[in-house]
Amino acid sequence: MNYYSLHHKSPKTTFKNAVVQGLAKDRGIYFPETITPLSKDFIENIEKYSNQEIAFEVIKQFVGDEIPTQKLKEIIEETVSFDFPLVNIDDNIASLELFHGPTMAFKDVGAKFMAQCLEYFNQGNKKEVTVLVATSGDTGGAVANGFLGAKGVNVVILYPSGKVSDIQEKQLTTLGQNITALEVDGVFDDCQEMVKTAFLDEEITKTLTSANSINVARWLPQMFYFFFTYKELKKLNKELVFSVPSGNFGNICAGIMAQKLGLPIKHFVASTNVNDTVPNYLQSGAYTPKKSKATISNAMDVGNPSNFIRILELYNNDFETIKKHFSSYSFTDDETREKMKAIYKDSGYVADPHGAVGYLGLEKYGLKENEFGVFLETAHPVKFLDIVESTLPVKVEIPVQIKKVIDKEKVATKISCYDDLRKFLVI
Ligand SMILES: *Cc1c(COP(=O)(O)O)cnc(C)c1O
Repeated sequence: MNYYSLHHKSPKTTFKNAVVQGLAKDRGIYFPETITPLSKDFIENIEKYSNQEIAFEVIKQFVGDEIPTQKLKEIIEETVSFDFPLVNIDDNIASLELFHGPTMAFKDVGAKFMAQCLEYFNQGNKKEVTVLVATSGDTGGAVANGFLGAKGVNVVILYPSGKVSDIQEKQLTTLGQNITALEVDGVFDDCQEMVKTAFLDEEITKTLTSANSINVARWLPQMFYFFFTYKELKKLNKELVFSVPSGNFGNICAGIMAQKLGLPIKHFVASTNVNDTVPNYLQSGAYTPKKSKATISNAMDVGNPSNFIRILELYNNDFETIKKHFSSYSFTDDETREKMKAIYKDSGYVADPHGAVGYLGLEKYGLKENEFGVFLETAHPVKFLDIVESTLPVKVEIPVQIKKVIDKEKVATKISCYDDLRKFLVI
C-alpha cells in the first residue's frame, strides 16, 4: 500500500516508510492512496468474527504485503488484548469504554500497534530508531508502555514539569529500559517546539520518528473500536451516531475511515472543549487555528488539530458533504462539570471530563427516534482524579494498572532548551 503526503510535495511512499518517518519530507502527514470498502458479506456477518479477526480484516489493506500475515496477526493479538465494553447510560445512549488497556487511555491501541510495526521494520538494522514524543499527559504513558522493550527502538518523552498529573508522571517516568523521560522547564507548547526543532535538524532526523497520531500506524488501528461497537449494537437495528471527544481529531478521523470501509454509521459528532477551531470552521467555513487554552479536559487542549487535514481529504474537501455527515460542538468547563453531575445523578455512571464532553455532543446533536448514540469514554476517571473527585461525591478506586506504577520511583532528567535535548538524540 502506498501513502501520499497531504502537502503533495513529497513522493509517494510505502507503509513501512510512512511508519518509520512519521511525517513526509515536505512536512505533510501521510494518507493512504486507496481505500477499498470491505465486503458486504463481512459487515453483515460481523458478529461471527472475533475482535482479532475483525481487526485483521480492517487493517490488512493498509499494511499490504509489507508485514507477513502471520506476523500481522500476532501484532493484532497484542494490540487488542483487552476489552472495549459498552455501558448503557440511557435508553438510547451508551458509553464506549476505551480505557481498559495498560495505561487506561484509548491511546494504548495505537501505541501498541505502532511499536510492534516499528520493531518489525527496524529488525536487522544496526542503527536504533528514536521515537520522540511531546506529551501533555496521556500520550506519554501510552507510548512508554507500548514501546517498552521494543528492540532497536529508543523512546524519548518530553513532558512539561508540574503540568501533568501525578499518575501521568509516574506512568511515563518509572519504566526504565528503552524509555527516557525528559522533564521540561516550560509548558506543553515548549515541548512541542523542541520536537519540531529536532525534526528539522539534518544530523539526527534520519533516525527519528514521531509517535503522535500523525503517524499512520498510530492513527489507523483506531478504526477497530468502531467496528467492535457495530458488532455489539447491530442487533438493535438502529442508526448509529458516534460522539468523539476530540483534540487532535485522530480518533474521529479513524471513525470516518471506518465508515469509508462500509461500516454503517449515520453521523459523527466531534465534541470539543473551548478549543473550538473545528466547531468554528463548521459554522463559518473558515479554518482559523488558535493558541490552545487550558481546560479540565486537557487531553483535548489543541488549537490546531493535526488530523483535520485528513478529514478534509476524506470528504474531498467539500464543505457541504462535511456538514451533512459531521457536526462539531464546543463546551465550557462549567457545562462539562454540570454534565458529569447529571450523568452521575441519573444513572450512577462516573464519566471523566472527556467522556462528559462526548455526552454533551450527543445531546446537542439531538438523537432522533431511530438513532442510537455512542460517546467514546477516552480515559478512566482515575486519570483525572482531582476533577472527578471534586465534582462528584465519589471516591475513585485505584485500578491495578495504576497501583503498579504509583509507588515506583520517578526517573527523569530536567532540561530547559533544545541543546539539552539534542544530547539525548545524537548517538
Ligand atoms: C488524546 C485524547 C483525546 C483526543 O483524541 P484525538 O484523537 O487527539 O482527538 C481525548 N481524550 C483523551 C482522554 C485523550 O487522551
